[in-house]
Amino acid sequence: MDIKMVDLHAMHMEIEDEIRSGFEDVMARSAYIGGEEVARFEQSLSDYTGVPHVVTCGSGTAALYIALKALEPTALAPGDEVIVPAFAYAACAEAVLAAGMIPVMADVDPATFNLTSSGIEAAVSPRTRGVIPVHLFGQPCDMASIMPTAQRHRLVVIEDNAQSLGAACRMANGEWRLAGSIGTVGCTSFFPTKPLGAYGDGGAMMTADSALGRRLRMIANHGQSEKYRHSLVGCNSRLDTLQAVVLSAKLPHIAKWNAARREVARYYTDALAEVDGIRVPVEASGVEHVYHQYTIQVADGRRDSLRERLASAGVATMVYYPMPLHRQEAYRHRCRVAGDPEVADRLSRSVLSLPLHTALTPASQDYVIDVIKKFFNS
Ligand SMILES: *Cc1c(COP(=O)(O)O)cnc(C)c1O
Repeated sequence: MDIKMVDLHAMHMEIEDEIRSGFEDVMARSAYIGGEEVARFEQSLSDYTGVPHVVTCGSGTAALYIALKALEPTALAPGDEVIVPAFAYAACAEAVLAAGMIPVMADVDPATFNLTSSGIEAAVSPRTRGVIPVHLFGQPCDMASIMPTAQRHRLVVIEDNAQSLGAACRMANGEWRLAGSIGTVGCTSFFPTKPLGAYGDGGAMMTADSALGRRLRMIANHGQSEKYRHSLVGCNSRLDTLQAVVLSAKLPHIAKWNAARREVARYYTDALAEVDGIRVPVEASGVEHVYHQYTIQVADGRRDSLRERLASAGVATMVYYPMPLHRQEAYRHRCRVAGDPEVADRLSRSVLSLPLHTALTPASQDYVIDVIKKFFNS
């Protein structure tokens, strides 16, 4: 058996012709930077998310950095604290530090793996001016409670939506909103394995604030207000024209692909929910999870041995993430740790992500499930 974590090929086959002809158009014009493909994709992403101003950039990490810099000097300034989850991908903490701000590592919820409003309350100090809710593994944070909490403490909200494009969240007024469309800025990544993956790197920022949208675009383009007029200290971060072709071809399929992943997740959960020794992921009420990862928790220090058993049976798994951010060498002396993030510590020892992609068959899932059940029965 050879069961992989991801399979990008099946998705490619559905859009291959469109991508080839789009690439040929770009190559015929030899115009590889910017152009109508990028503008058209930004418009499509704006239509899809309902967020008026979408600015593409070079990666999800760059999107976070540019968003932080674009919020200077009114909402954020160097030296300000920005709350991030202690259990997450490193990009949020890294972007905060690169922007000259101080990450505050807050603990997360043990069921959803996400930052919560009580975690934010516990982490906030008089120097805290921002928060980055990371919608981890495809599940949005509880934005219905995070938004009012942030407002009460005057925190600007930058959503890290790299893993949850297409996931939705019910707000306090009952309205459903897409993750990434709720905070002051939403950031996403088009890394190939993300819900909307390019064939290389890419990212985007989105905001309803037109002045902020202009600043995002300027900073991503060397801080230029017009060519050779540098009004802000910016950087060079852009989405390649060829990547925009791929993303425009893929975007119309995202709902179907997210639904397929939800289906795979449900199949695992139906089979694994009763297995003693593991905890299956939960979908919180008021959100729609898109299962970028299907992440179980394995009790009693048996995670690594389960992982080895699956590997020897030909089943790939991954540990996202083996070390929480407040323990990372690069950040631990440069952040403020809010309390004792014991959930983050525990999760880094117990989480295991199983194979999940749009082409995973029930037969393959049965095989994975069988290996797991036998492991816990032996
Ligand atoms: C992938 C990812 C990023 C960074 O995206 P890149 O495009 O790889 O820079 C940021 N945050 C989270 C949660 C991610 O999963």
